[in-house]
Amino acid sequence: MSRALMIGAGGVASVVAHKCVENSAVFSELCIASRTLARCEALKEKLDGRGCQITTRQVDADDVEALVALIEDYKPEIVMNLALPYQDLTIMDACLRTKTHYLDTANYEPKDTAKFEYSWQWAYRQRFEEAGICAILGCGFDPGVTGVFSAYAQKHYFDKIREIDILDCNGGDHGYPFATNFNPEINIREVSANGRYYENGKFVETQPMEIKRQYNFAEVGEKDMYLLYHEELESLAKNINGIERIRFFMTFGESYLRHLNCLINVGMTSIEPIEFQGQQIVPLQFLKAVLPDPASLGPRTVGKTNIGCIFTGEKDGQQRHHYIYNICDHQECYRETGAQAVSYTTGVPAMIGASLLLQGLWCKPGVYNVEEFDPDPFMDALNRYGLPWREDSDPVLVP
Ligand code: NDP
Repeated sequence: MSRALMIGAGGVASVVAHKCVENSAVFSELCIASRTLARCEALKEKLDGRGCQITTRQVDADDVEALVALIEDYKPEIVMNLALPYQDLTIMDACLRTKTHYLDTANYEPKDTAKFEYSWQWAYRQRFEEAGICAILGCGFDPGVTGVFSAYAQKHYFDKIREIDILDCNGGDHGYPFATNFNPEINIREVSANGRYYENGKFVETQPMEIKRQYNFAEVGEKDMYLLYHEELESLAKNINGIERIRFFMTFGESYLRHLNCLINVGMTSIEPIEFQGQQIVPLQFLKAVLPDPASLGPRTVGKTNIGCIFTGEKDGQQRHHYIYNICDHQECYRETGAQAVSYTTGVPAMIGASLLLQGLWCKPGVYNVEEFDPDPFMDALNRYGLPWREDSDPVLVP
């Protein structure tokens, strides 16, 4: 029986709220707080009367004082940041001031620099330890479940993992020539950045989309995928002993890439403010305003996602490979929660991480990435809460 506060009321937050209500034995009380109160109230209206006592509040999560006031008033045991990565540090500051546990799904990036890395949040480790509170970082699917899969493979299948390839395939079709499946600003900043992978103790940088491979994904089919930098590479390189190489690939359709290249070429993805009719505007934020809201893609998206990790390493002196992955159907997610599979695959793990923390299974003072906890209860919960995983001990490898 716990009281939780979630910040944000977009696509991912909506799934977390549905799943907290489903798990109301742990989440008996939930406060949905976000910038736009009407979105919190719309969510509450959908979920009221199902065993979890829901309240709503308006809050600007860039404002530490406002967050502290909200936390002191509501007195949650955990704050889940389901708003944007820009708010990670203000919410962590408010958690420190109020001695409240913290969880998020994406690592901090400053608004004015398209750069994400864990250093800013890892710098809180000692202060969280001293305050006796726990922060779980990056608890969505990727990052999140990909780290749990890695810890599970390490615990059960390998003496040493040498290589990890993370494959993120979205075979969904929303019918728009161009739209992003989660917050457009964060998504476009991620995919238009240089690629990077980890090899032999250092990161190797590539041009954006320079490395392309094809892979035949179960229940989706053959797709083009591109090497991207993704935040779990930084934590897995540190936390998986003896790792030699980690790569991250994401599939993109031709229409998406054609539109993205055009937008990059005309300057629409820039985060440098420009003067427009007497006002300062950031082109990428303006683009976000004209693109479809990811939360509105649910009813129109059909097809499946297939996300997982291929591991290569040794067990008992023998080389072995192992693939752990999940397949998720956009329409099934929509029927259950009103959101498409990208929000669903992020929101379910966030609820699971928070619930394990509240039950004391994943709770130690400090700041941690998911692979630093015991993966077993999390893997069980994935099966129970809608993201069953599959395994293949003889997968096709990525060249
Ligand atoms: P949305 O844009 O749909 O929702 C963001 C929500 O945060 C909105 O309700 C927005 O309010 C609210 N918000 C934004 N700024 C503030 C603020 N200053 N104060 C209070 N509330 C604020 O995003 P998504 O739901 O698609 O994504 C949420 C998060 O999930 C992102 O951080 C994203 O990076 C992460 N993510 C992680 C993945 C993973 O696998 N780990 C995969 C996909 C996403 P308003 O309604 O007013 O705009």
